[in-house]
Amino acid sequence: MKSIWKENEAKKFKGNLLKLRVYTSQLLGKNEDLVMHGGGNTSVKINEKNIFGEKEDILYVKGSGWDLGTIEAAGFAPVKLKALQQLADLDSLTDVEMVKYQRMAMTDPAAPNPSVEAILHAIIPYTFVDHTHADAVVTVTNTPGGKERIEEIYGEKILIIPYVMPGFILAKEIYNMTKGIDWDKLDGMILMNHGVFTFHNDPKVSYEKMIAIVSKSEGYLKKQSATPIKGTSGRKINTLHIADIRKQVSEIWGKPVLTRTDDSSESVAFSNLPDVKKIVNRGPLTPDHIIQTKRTPVVVTNNFEKDLSDYVKDYLDYFDKNNTGEQTLLDQAPRWAIVPGSGSLSFGPTAKNLTIIEDINRHTKKAIYQAEKLGGWKPLGKADLFEMEYWSLEQAKLKKAGSSKPMEGKIALVTGAASGIGKACVESLVAAGAVVGAIDIDPSIRTTFKKKEILGIQCDVTSEKQLRITIEKIVAQFGGIDMIISSAGIFPKSTRIENMETKLWEKSLEINVSSHQKLIQLCVPYLKLGFDPSVVIIGSKNVAAPGPGAAAYSVAKAGLAQLGRVAALELGENGIRVNTIHPNAVYDTAIWTDEVLKTRAKHYKLTVKEYKTNNVLKVEVTSKDVADLAVSMLGKTFSKITGAQVPIDGGNDRVI
Ligand code: ZN
Repeated sequence: MKSIWKENEAKKFKGNLLKLRVYTSQLLGKNEDLVMHGGGNTSVKINEKNIFGEKEDILYVKGSGWDLGTIEAAGFAPVKLKALQQLADLDSLTDVEMVKYQRMAMTDPAAPNPSVEAILHAIIPYTFVDHTHADAVVTVTNTPGGKERIEEIYGEKILIIPYVMPGFILAKEIYNMTKGIDWDKLDGMILMNHGVFTFHNDPKVSYEKMIAIVSKSEGYLKKQSATPIKGTSGRKINTLHIADIRKQVSEIWGKPVLTRTDDSSESVAFSNLPDVKKIVNRGPLTPDHIIQTKRTPVVVTNNFEKDLSDYVKDYLDYFDKNNTGEQTLLDQAPRWAIVPGSGSLSFGPTAKNLTIIEDINRHTKKAIYQAEKLGGWKPLGKADLFEMEYWSLEQAKLKKAGSSKPMEGKIALVTGAASGIGKACVESLVAAGAVVGAIDIDPSIRTTFKKKEILGIQCDVTSEKQLRITIEKIVAQFGGIDMIISSAGIFPKSTRIENMETKLWEKSLEINVSSHQKLIQLCVPYLKLGFDPSVVIIGSKNVAAPGPGAAAYSVAKAGLAQLGRVAALELGENGIRVNTIHPNAVYDTAIWTDEVLKTRAKHYKLTVKEYKTNNVLKVEVTSKDVADLAVSMLGKTFSKITGAQVPIDGGNDRVI
């Protein structure tokens, strides 16, 4: 591991301890081999004047809910140092009391809650304190004889702390162990199965001590030939099988969740380990990971129903054996699965969860692989892990992560998604909490949306082959398909029947109706495994009120409306709803430039505004209006409606 300290960067923060703290915290946080997703914490002690002009020592410690990689000054909670040190003197302190007294000692009530390690930071007598969960060091501690190995690597200059629960208990343990010691003789502390602490009055020295300590463990692993995983290629998991696995896991979880496939060559190689089930059953890399990943993954065999029921049985057994009578049973769903020969799957309610779980798993797999070469993976035991999983302070963090949105865990597919109504539908779905496979023939779709929740895929919906591949990509990325907004369409140039070109006619039918049939057909097997599965078809006012010159368009859209009605009849028995929206005069789309609008308005002797609102209610209908209606139709409000056709046109006298 290399130091990424940059003198000319650091120079900018000279004399400002908090800014320097932000700088080196980010250096640590940017390295995934040191900390991930909220792991680790840092602090700085600053002597500053309070409102009464008195000088006070304040500990600025990482606030709960902040990531070191992106932390800013506002992410540090200012706590009176003396109050924290006094807490360390107490014989015992409950979690509730600790949180309460730490908050009471804060000098800014608007700051986030201080890290659970605030007391520990307070008793370390240096200005800067850095704490990480460095992979290499934890890997060495997670082996038989881990402690002896650490002694061998580091000698006397590292204080080794046996594993105890983080929070007050850990602070107290270290407080007692370090009474009367000469701190200056220490380079740092290694906490078994947990991580590393370094400290110094100079932020650079503290940071670089961390790098040096981790480098030593990395060097040791290399010397012991505990090399990283060498990738191999594997069998692709059938996407219907993925959707089925997602369905079963969601049912155990009690809500729909997303599922993502990791079939990277390293993931496949790991899944091929001969005793993979035995090894992964031992536990996670660091105890705090259990909050995101649970203690173990489920291993998928030919009978997933049994795999999952065995997993649940094991979990209930683990709960019963460790529950002190005060804990409430959490859900029993696994957060990841090993698919031997093919890689792994992650499960989570949001795209963010999936990323966290995937990142943690990638590091866990590497650590397990290396530890196996050091005599065997030996993480913390079940009782300690249980204590962590059911720790009220960790559970509180999860709850704080935000209330769930109505479509959380649900997966949508939207066609014609690069512009206009389709694009607005993607945005409304994501706002409602769903993830979306957004497809369009326009290659810009790959970069239109820059969010984890949206997978943009270029696809010609008239090609069955491309549709098939696209659907499989969406299922590999998110786990299934619950909802479709079939929006792809074209508006052919105005041509009277007597002048109709065969090509124009056929193209309209191909895109405006046949492609929708193929899409629905290919998605039905996934919808059958979906949650409250539902389809919305974007029709047109022309179905009820056609105009001269628009035969190719109107006939195709009328066929599409009929397709929706038959689909509603056929798919109802599977609980799949199919409804159709008939928009009219939606002008905020790519075809309607200012120029075209002006010309059209002039043709009818109207102003542009009058032209746009030329309906019974005199309102303008936007893409977002249509998208919001479509999302409502996919949701709870329309849960008992299928086969409906709803105009959205501000009221059209010909339709009414
Ligand atoms: Zn920690």
